[in-house]
Amino acid sequence: MKAKVFTILPEVFPGFLGVSLTGKALSEGKWSLDIVNIRDYAFDKYGSVDDTPSGGGAGMVMRADVLGEALAQNYKTGKLINMSPRGVPLTQELVHQLAKEDELNIICSRFEGIDERVLEEYGAIDVSIGDYILTGGEQAAMIMLDAIIRLLPDVLGNSASIQDESFEGGLLEYPQYTRPQEWKGRTIPEVLTSGHHQKINDWRKAQSEFITESRRPDLWKKYLALK
Ligand code: SAH
Repeated sequence: MKAKVFTILPEVFPGFLGVSLTGKALSEGKWSLDIVNIRDYAFDKYGSVDDTPSGGGAGMVMRADVLGEALAQNYKTGKLINMSPRGVPLTQELVHQLAKEDELNIICSRFEGIDERVLEEYGAIDVSIGDYILTGGEQAAMIMLDAIIRLLPDVLGNSASIQDESFEGGLLEYPQYTRPQEWKGRTIPEVLTSGHHQKINDWRKAQSEFITESRRPDLWKKYLALK
């Protein structure tokens, strides 16, 4: 998968995507990262990319002409995503869909956002990583890419662990334990050391259901409807 990121902070990439599983996958060519510095497309000698909002108000807005030029020269094919708190929520389902794409172009903005016209002109899809406000799209883009890259073929050592994860079956994950058998007087639930696979699966399913019902009524409702 080819990722192309449009940003005014090229120095923050690849960041944590350059280490561990995603970093190994990057060096093995399972995905590639191309960075476009939006500032290189500014029209003045100061490299200005933003201006005051039309209609007044706080903050600055990324100019349509500067970002437009960066896109005109670098956006060729594939999906174009704009990281935005107004976007469609990034869910594991959407992550699976995006992992099937050959090419992802991702716009990261700062300030108050981007002049709407450039998003319309290029048909960008807004994607949000959650109901909170970050200082910039770079963090959001990295989180989205991290979630996508781990689903690419041969990136995770054990693909069974993907299916077991929270959200994959509509439920949150059950609690996990490992050695030592006893820690600060707390022991591992007996069933997990029984070697009885059916009982272990039943226990895990019950725990997943309990945790989902108590923590995420929204997911629980969807799960019950599909069951
Ligand atoms: N004024 C905007 C928020 C701007 S935050 C609003 O009220 O909607 C600055 C930038 O950070 C955004 O343009 C976006 O690129 C990024 N960002 C902030 N929160 C985000 C989120 N939850 N998901 C994705 N991107 C986000």
